[in-house]
Amino acid sequence: MTDLMSKFDGLIAERQALLDSGVIDPFAIVMEQVKSPTEAVIKGRDTILLGTYNYMGMTFDPDVIKAGKDALDQFGSGTNGSRMLNGTFRDHMDVEQALRDFYGVSGAIVFSTGYMANLGMISTLAGKGEYIVLDADSHASIYDGCKQGNAEIVRFRHNDVTDLDKRLGRLPAEAGKLVVLEGVYSMLGDIAPLKEMVAVAKKHGAMVLVDEAHSMGFFGPNGRGVYEDQGLEADVDFVVGTFSKSVGTVGGFCISNHPKFEAIRLACRPYIFTASLPPSVVATAATSIRKLATAHEKRARLWENARTLHGGLKAMGFKLGTETPESAIIAVILEDQEQAVVMWQALLENGLYVNMARPPATPAGTFLLRCSLCAEHRPEQIERVLGMFRAAGQAVGVIA
Ligand code: PMP
Repeated sequence: MTDLMSKFDGLIAERQALLDSGVIDPFAIVMEQVKSPTEAVIKGRDTILLGTYNYMGMTFDPDVIKAGKDALDQFGSGTNGSRMLNGTFRDHMDVEQALRDFYGVSGAIVFSTGYMANLGMISTLAGKGEYIVLDADSHASIYDGCKQGNAEIVRFRHNDVTDLDKRLGRLPAEAGKLVVLEGVYSMLGDIAPLKEMVAVAKKHGAMVLVDEAHSMGFFGPNGRGVYEDQGLEADVDFVVGTFSKSVGTVGGFCISNHPKFEAIRLACRPYIFTASLPPSVVATAATSIRKLATAHEKRARLWENARTLHGGLKAMGFKLGTETPESAIIAVILEDQEQAVVMWQALLENGLYVNMARPPATPAGTFLLRCSLCAEHRPEQIERVLGMFRAAGQAVGVIA
């Protein structure tokens, strides 16, 4: 017998070497208690959360929690089936209505996660003899959607409009093409030049899908995303999103004005062959989405927090993912794994949790400490965060 598990020996050894050096395992963090959208207890210590995607701080909103509890009481803990058969309850219909209202569109389809929304939409939209053209730094769920389907895959350099134009120009003019973009790229927190990219896609007769996972709620006048902010509502064919970030629960979706959009439900395997979300989850999502539509004050606070943190870290001399604060993600770029792990651990031991990201998740082999802000971070928390970054950065020798 060949042990199929032996292919993981390298990974196991690498992880063991890291743990043997005495560090805390960055991929085995447990939230022992969660006190608010910005505070948890980790390893027995009160910790500021600066590495979650709880951008709008909706997880403890009293209306959201009440909606979930009511749905649990009325509809039970789960649906026991696919949306296509017995798994469509009142609140699945309601959350799709909340999405249509939020985005001002005719169609909304909810999936069990954002990962499955990309997997399903991308593999179903483009088939044999057709082309998917995607940014090289695309999220894993976009790559996996490409793998799941039968289309030809073409990559272009990250956020490079000229390269997109060149690669589209080489494809057969009459073939079906889907250009897949993200509003915010989550590793460095940079935004896409969507206006230019969508214009290029349209010039070549391609349809466009934009993943707005990291922008919902705080980009654009209605919080619809970067595509709204850049005035592209009439030009983007499909928008994919998630409930796991600004909405504050779990689930994924796609919205569109395409008149035949509903046909996706009949053909999309990751929609059909899995159980639907629990009623309590979709009820919390619907309530949260309706509140996000008018959360102007929260939006303003989130941007203020992003500007304060970015400005403070930059002034200390940290190398950041973007020159200016482009989104609610601020990535601190470090030289190597050792520096990243030591600094990450120093922050954690002082009561600050940030995300550590390393290749292959990161672009160009970089090691990142990713900070993601929440509208509910208070100014004094940001001040403390900056103090902790200064102390850890100096101790590790990243800044002077
Ligand atoms: N798209 C992007 C850009 C993401 O960053 C993520 C999750 N980090 C997803 C999709 C998947 O979302 P979910 O967590 O709902 O599966």
